[in-house]
Formats: sequence, structure tokens, C-alpha cells
Amino acid sequence: MTVATELAPEAPGTESGPAPQYRNFIGGAWQAAAQGGCFENRNPADLSDLIGLFPDSGAEDVAAAVAGVSAAQAAWAAASPETRADMLYRAAEIISGRTAEIAAELTREEGKTLAEATGETSRIAANFRFYAGEALRLKGETYPVPGGQMAMSLRQPVGTVAVITPWNFPLSMAARKIAPALAAGNAVVFKPSEMAPLMGQRLVEVLLDAGLPAGLIALVHGKGPTVGKALTSAPGIDALTFTGSYAVGAQIQASLGTDTRCQLEMGGKNATVVLEDADIAKAAAIIKRGAFGLTGQACTGTSRVLVARKLHDALLAELVRAAETVVIGPGDGDGVTMGPLATAAQLEKATAYLEIARREGAEIVTGGLPDTADLPEGHWIRPTVIAGVQPGSPLLRDEIFAPIVALCPFDTLEEALAIADDTEYGLAISVVSDHLPSVMKIAAETQHGIVKVNSPTTGVALNAPFGGFKHSSNQSAKEQGGANVMDFYSRIKTVYLGA
Ligand code: NAD
Repeated sequence: MTVATELAPEAPGTESGPAPQYRNFIGGAWQAAAQGGCFENRNPADLSDLIGLFPDSGAEDVAAAVAGVSAAQAAWAAASPETRADMLYRAAEIISGRTAEIAAELTREEGKTLAEATGETSRIAANFRFYAGEALRLKGETYPVPGGQMAMSLRQPVGTVAVITPWNFPLSMAARKIAPALAAGNAVVFKPSEMAPLMGQRLVEVLLDAGLPAGLIALVHGKGPTVGKALTSAPGIDALTFTGSYAVGAQIQASLGTDTRCQLEMGGKNATVVLEDADIAKAAAIIKRGAFGLTGQACTGTSRVLVARKLHDALLAELVRAAETVVIGPGDGDGVTMGPLATAAQLEKATAYLEIARREGAEIVTGGLPDTADLPEGHWIRPTVIAGVQPGSPLLRDEIFAPIVALCPFDTLEEALAIADDTEYGLAISVVSDHLPSVMKIAAETQHGIVKVNSPTTGVALNAPFGGFKHSSNQSAKEQGGANVMDFYSRIKTVYLGA
């Protein structure tokens, strides 16, 4: 096993002893940040629980990381596809053997329930297997060309890929970028979210345990405005893949030169549209899962419900009943079905939108901030249903990223489509209906990149293309889905063979 952590005697203490002091992985070795600083990482369900101290790195660390992996990349590119695939298969096996342990740490670090954390951990093993297969399927094509020549496309790795990820799926967002990057023969510089650095650490440990050449991956912990920003301007980065907010994604896009390809997956303002033929209980169950699962902190989470006017009152009542069955608490607690928000900033943002609802005269029918007497100090909110929201309200247009769902009635399908698309985002929409012509009209006309029928906006297959429209993605390349993903992580050279 890779020994990745060391105990620092000077680290602040907790009841169970000193907090672990983690390291960057640069140039094939675990090391502290060049300037020596650290930041704390705490459990969002119990702020007295200090998970560890992580390097507060800077531009110097980023430069060293890029130089280190670039030197190792040529040998990996020359390794056989089987070698690359075997490493990814081994990583999948290691993760599968450690699922319970990693999932428990994911719950402690990010707050999602143990069941959700187990799902995410298992998903990354599946991702590694999937992209192991893609390593073997990388191929070029041949083209008939005039003059008796043949042209062929030669597929080569891009070079060094920077991976910047958010806290909400700290394992799976990273795995679905790092695995295809390595499968295609690239080196990786990985900057996990400063809100979930331990999961970044675990992912790199697994890859090293699986036999990834040590110099080929670098892990640089730290803050977005320092490490993240340095990565976007570091010479030697050939491709950058980012998942996070639109605000940061837009800055990244603006800062990159034409030599760096860039993939941005960003926010969402996802809607479930309930048509008038829908079964109320089925619709409420779909919305409950999409809106309150993962504490509403999925990029595809359901944040608004557009409902045929004649169903509005019945659906509202059923949804309120469903919301009130959710049990909040620490994600590993008995019977808990919803964990806390992941960060103080998340709670502050959610609270601001509850205030907007009050100011606009909407009705918070259930939810809001809980009585925290029985809960440890953490970022708590209840599943929240808001009714009486008018089209154009920020509650129907802005990403809130919390278990808050706003209801709005509509009279015609055209009106539902207009409200659904009246946001700068365009990630996921779901429709509850068995009326095929209406479903197909929404699927064909909506400005969302993912359309789900009779299922929640959340939950996607790892072998189908993923990505949104408008401010949800920069449209350069879809994530997930196989061969299209490998196009981002490889580049094509056209070779003409003359006689
Ligand atoms: P964020 O944009 O604040 O941070 C994402 C990452 O970018 C972090 O690692 C952060 O440190 C880094 N970063 C911050 N400032 C930077 C800068 N100036 N330059 C470079 N990097 C910088 O996002 P977050 O709060 O971690 O995550 C939540 C957001 O992610 C939501 O908007 C959510 O919708 C989105 N998300 C999207 C998807 C998707 O696939 N579309 C999936 C998950 C989350």
C-alpha cells in the first residue's frame, strides 16, 4: 500500500488525536506545499470533527507538478494499450475492495449519506473499468484520397491534462476525467476541490497502488484562486477539464490561450415538468428523489417543478408529504436519508434564497432551516417546498444547489417549455407523462442537454454522453459515453501515404 499520510506533531488535536497532515504528490513523491501553509478540512455534519490539514499550495507547486508529469508522459504514451488498461482494471479492483472504507470517508468529508457515498464509490470503479476498455478501443481511420494515396488518422495523446473538480462528487467527477485521460496516454495534474481534498488524495493513492507510474500523476491541493488559477496559466498544460460553477468556468475559458483545449461542465437549473396525464404519487416520488437526494447538491438536481395547473394543488400536497418523510442528520446516522449541506457558503446561499421567497410573497410550505437542538453543529437545512412562485423569479432561474424546490403552474405545453428554458442554464429536464407526442415535443424543443422521461433529473448512465447547453457546458466535448470522450483526450494527426 502507498503510505500517503503522515502525522504532524504540531497538527491541531481532536478527541481521537492529532489531525493527519496530508501532502501534495509532485514529481513522484509526497511533499508539503513549497510555502509550507495548510488549510483545514472539517466534517459538514459535525464541525468539531477536524478531518485533516492539507497543503495550501501555490503557483510554485503547480509549476513543479506540471514539469514532473510532462517528463513522464512520453513513456506512458508509448506503453501498450494493454498496460494502460490493466492499470485501470487494477484500480477498479482496489476501489471495489475498499468501497466501505472510502464511502465512510466520503460521508465524513462531503456529508452525503452512506448509501449515496457507497453509490458514488462503486461508480468510480465502474468508470475505471469502462475507460480501461476504451484504452483498447482507441483507433484511427483510413480515407480514400486522390492520386493513389491513402490518408489515415493517427490518434495520439494530447500530452498533459489539468483536472479541476468540485466538491459535490469529489470521486466520480475526478474519475470520469482522470480515467479517460490516462487511458489515452496522457499525464495528469489533478487539483481536487479544497472542500473535499481527502477524496482527491484517496483517488491518487488507489492509482499508485494499481501501478500507475509515479511521475505520471500530480496531486496539488489548494484553493481555486491560487492553485486553480495557476493551473489555467501554467505553460505545459495541453488540455484542461473542469467541473464546477459557471462563474469560475467562464474565468477559466477567458484565461486560456488557443493552444490549450478546454472542457467545462458547469451549473444547472433543472426542472421536472409534470403534464396533466401524470400520476401524482409517481410524480412526487420522482421529484423527491431528484430534489432532495444528495441534499439537492447535484448539478442535475431538481430545483423547480412546472406542473399542469389542474394537478398543482394535489401535487403540492403530495410533495410536502414526501418531503416531510425525509430524515436529516449525519450521513452515517441510523435512518438518515439526507445529510447536511457541504459548506458554510452553501448554507448561506440557500438561506438567501429562502429570504428571496419571503420577499417575493411565495409560500415556504415546508422546510427551511431546522431546529438544530438535536443535531451536531453543521450546515443543516430541511427539504424545502416553495409554492406561489411567479415566472421570472430567481427561484425559477438561478442555481441554488440545495434541497429547495419551487413549484409553478402552467396552462399550455408551450408555456411550460418557455418557463423551463427561461434560465441561463440548460443541463437536465425531466418530464412526467405517458403522452408521447408531448414528451417528444419537449425533448425536441427544450434547450437542455439531457432529457429524462418518467425519471428524476438526477442519475445518468456512465456510457451515455453527458453535458448541457448554454451556461451548463462550453460545448467543446461531452463527458462520459465512450468514443466521444476519447476525442477530447487525444488528438488526430492526418498521415498521407504515397506510393
Ligand atoms: P467552484 O466553481 O467553486 O469550484 C470548482 C473547482 O474550481 C474547485 O476545485 C475550485 O477550487 C476551483 N476554482 C475556483 N476558482 C478557480 C479559479 N479562479 N481558477 C481555476 N479553478 C478555480 O464549484 P463548486 O462549488 O466546487 O461546485 C459546485 C458547482 O459545480 C455547481 O455550480 C454545480 O452545478 C457544478 N457541477 C457541475 C457538474 C456538471 O457535470 N455539469 C457536476 C458537478 C457539479
